[in-house]
Amino acid sequence: AAMNGRPPPGDRREGGGTAGGPPPKHVYRFGGAQGYAEGDASMTALLGGKGAGLAEMARLGLPVPPGFTIATAAGRRVAGGGGLPDGLEEQVAAALGEVERETRRRFGDAANPLLVSVRSGAPVSMPGMMDTVLNLGLNEATVAGLAAAVGEGGERFARDSYRRFVQMYSNVVLGLDHSAFEDILDAVKDEEDAAQDSALSAAALARVAARFRAHVEEAAGHPFPDDPKRQLWGAIRAVFASWNNRRAVDYRAIHGIPESLGTAVTVQAMVFGNMGDDCATGVAFTRHPDDGSRTLFGEFLVNAQGEDVVAGLRTPLSIARAPGPAGGGSMEERMPAAFARLQEVGAILERHWRDMQDLEFTVEKGRLFMLQTRPGKRSVRAALKIAVDMAEEGLIDRDTALCRIEAGDLDRLLHPVPDPAAPRRVIARGLPGSPGAASGAAVFTADEAQALAAEGRAAILVRPETSPEDIHGMHSAAGILTRHGGQTSHAALVARGMGRPCVTGAGAIRVECEAGFFAAGGVTVRRGATITIDGSTGEVILGEVATVEPQLSGEFATLMAWADRRRRLRVRANAETPADAAKAREFGAEGIGLCRTEHMFFEEERIAAMREVILAEDEAGRRAPLARILPVQRADFVELFRIMAGLPVTVRLLDPPLHEFLPAGEGELAALAGRLGVDAEHVRLRAGSLRELNPMLGHRGCRLGISHPEIYDMQARAVLEAAVEAERAEGRPVHLEIMVPLVATGREFDIIAARIEAIAGEVAAAGGRPRYRIGTMIELPRAALAAGEIARRAEFFSFGTNDLTQTAFGISRDDSGRFLERYRAEGIFETDPFVSIDREGVGELVRLAAERGRAVRPGLALGICGEHGGDPASIAFCQEAGLDYVSCSPYRVPIARLAAAQAAIRADGRCPKERDCVSAP
Ligand code: PEP
Ligand code: MG
Repeated sequence: AAMNGRPPPGDRREGGGTAGGPPPKHVYRFGGAQGYAEGDASMTALLGGKGAGLAEMARLGLPVPPGFTIATAAGRRVAGGGGLPDGLEEQVAAALGEVERETRRRFGDAANPLLVSVRSGAPVSMPGMMDTVLNLGLNEATVAGLAAAVGEGGERFARDSYRRFVQMYSNVVLGLDHSAFEDILDAVKDEEDAAQDSALSAAALARVAARFRAHVEEAAGHPFPDDPKRQLWGAIRAVFASWNNRRAVDYRAIHGIPESLGTAVTVQAMVFGNMGDDCATGVAFTRHPDDGSRTLFGEFLVNAQGEDVVAGLRTPLSIARAPGPAGGGSMEERMPAAFARLQEVGAILERHWRDMQDLEFTVEKGRLFMLQTRPGKRSVRAALKIAVDMAEEGLIDRDTALCRIEAGDLDRLLHPVPDPAAPRRVIARGLPGSPGAASGAAVFTADEAQALAAEGRAAILVRPETSPEDIHGMHSAAGILTRHGGQTSHAALVARGMGRPCVTGAGAIRVECEAGFFAAGGVTVRRGATITIDGSTGEVILGEVATVEPQLSGEFATLMAWADRRRRLRVRANAETPADAAKAREFGAEGIGLCRTEHMFFEEERIAAMREVILAEDEAGRRAPLARILPVQRADFVELFRIMAGLPVTVRLLDPPLHEFLPAGEGELAALAGRLGVDAEHVRLRAGSLRELNPMLGHRGCRLGISHPEIYDMQARAVLEAAVEAERAEGRPVHLEIMVPLVATGREFDIIAARIEAIAGEVAAAGGRPRYRIGTMIELPRAALAAGEIARRAEFFSFGTNDLTQTAFGISRDDSGRFLERYRAEGIFETDPFVSIDREGVGELVRLAAERGRAVRPGLALGICGEHGGDPASIAFCQEAGLDYVSCSPYRVPIARLAAAQAAIRADGRCPKERDCVSAP
């Protein structure tokens, strides 16, 4: 380790450990008068976040009580049951000697005792998950010395410190339950008629400690240790072992923190925030962690120790003076000098770390001491403001600012979210289908949802799954909850497109639509009862939870502008309705990458016409409803072209999995029979004959276009005529791309492309001059392999990674929810391959197709329009694979813009270090 200041005697360098050589270095000292430290901020893996932060603060000459950190290597060994490593005891003894010299106190000395804290500190912040012991070094002899050293009020202070120590040590090191100690304390308070601990006299506190010790002897089977050295080693071992605490293990599991890290232990001279009214302890953030504003924000307690803040028995006060009339008990008002010093130190630390810091401090007799600094956790809103502000202040560059925000977290800014402060009762968990939170009355049919919406009431549409005829209900509902389906199933896809919160795949709920209830988590929710869903977390919550509306700040716009300048991938949106298209542009989309024309048939009148087409027995039977559909489609396209104002619009020809369009239930059968003027039985038979065992692999996509060419003919005509019409009306060229779905062979594409060109010829003959390109989806493994052959005629490829994932794995998009969890637990899938692209398999197919396609047609345009187009990790892959653009649902466009910028920064090797990337809590 590099050094600052004069190396003190007895310094030992890292390394060694070979037979005969000195044992490896385990102990790193810091602090004291010289501004000295053996470690520094770069050594978090070795010293933990706390140890590295203390070392760096000491180097900066900031007021840090002297101490030392025992490195994580020793921690891993002790926590793993391996015992203390060689040389540790000698190194600790030497370091402790230095702390004694610095403080001019001696550990265990009856006249002038040194007390220490023993605190955990992992390389990754795990707040409150591991253990700490304060006031270590006290016994009956040193208590007296401490009291004498303090002077006035010292007796009471020393006794209070002692009883705190016995309690904490007994709990952390001896493993005794807190409650017995609380009971003893309460009993003495009763005897003394004291309302609070702070009202207890020194004599009463001495009685408390004596009874504590008696209890320890009885419960632990041995006396409370009086020898400070024994205390110290007991505490060091226990704090190392707290790495294996249940809560620490759970925390690591939840946050994906590797078990292999281990914790360091920091032993540090105590400073006291509880020596009187000129003492305090507190925490502070250098900027506001909720809104990011540039104010020192925090809380403190006068005459208290850190554990008092943690225990929450007393309500802390704000450190900064509240706006308005003075007279509050803020630190700024009560301890102006210490407050000013804290501001100064905070500013130094922030400049040094170039990030917002989370500080722990103690004020002892008016003097400020720093006990911890680390990059502070913050909300997305604050992260955004802090990143932009810091870049504008010149603290960080724009690349760093762009990398400081998890792109996926932007979701939380765009949708209403549950108020984090609100209590909630979660009755089931599903998959986060579409982000945002919504509360409303549970309803079980689309019509009910619509009826409720007409009354101005919010509904949550609860279904086993959804289908196109539920679309009006989905649109009317405030949120959607389904038992089946994954994150790319119909419900999720449509909901995300509409920006409706949605939870899918909540397998634990039982939905009884006819009876009008669902059951989950031992609760029955009847029609009309209020529930809340959180589509960002997948939670299903009983009752209403208050939500907060997003407000897009100026910083959001600034950061987005920076992202746009930095990224190389273009960002388009998947959109088919005018509302979605307008939303997409508002969020910065540079075109439509996928207009799913089958989604344009969801409206009642249209779906009926479409059903006629599908159920017709011959071409003549299809022509009539198609002729009715044509002008409607044309008008829709004209509107889309108008909204997209010359930006590219990729229109995909019909790709309906047939089952989504077949009439379901008696009511729909009868209605359709009525329209067709045939009897219901006839319709039932026809629908039955069309029913497929495996509709996702059935008569869909270009297969439909090949077997019933009149359908694609109609669509090609509608879109080409619309392009001509829009160009005329707007006086600006339309950028039309016609896309063929589910192609597997070059021949399929050629047949369909030839028909489109023929129709274009007819449109031209009628006086128009349609401009267009024809390309294809690559969404089947065979298409990826045959990309060279397909590219001979196709002018662009758009990777449909939903189907490509489905077909590459042979896993149904709609059913994967059933075994996904297990697959994740077994480590077969790290993440859901429908959410984040499977680089090794599906990704290889994408790379291969890109390579083979471009070998044949060098300028071949490449994009992606599966759900992966809005996933940051997949966007990074798209950058690497050389795609030109990504396309995603409108609400994900800002995420994609930022993720694309981050991908470019990473590709340029300019990504700041991992620890600089701060994710929101
Ligand atoms: C895909 O398969 O990735 C795709 C975009 O098409 P769809 O989701 O409509 O099948
Ligand atoms: Mg597809």
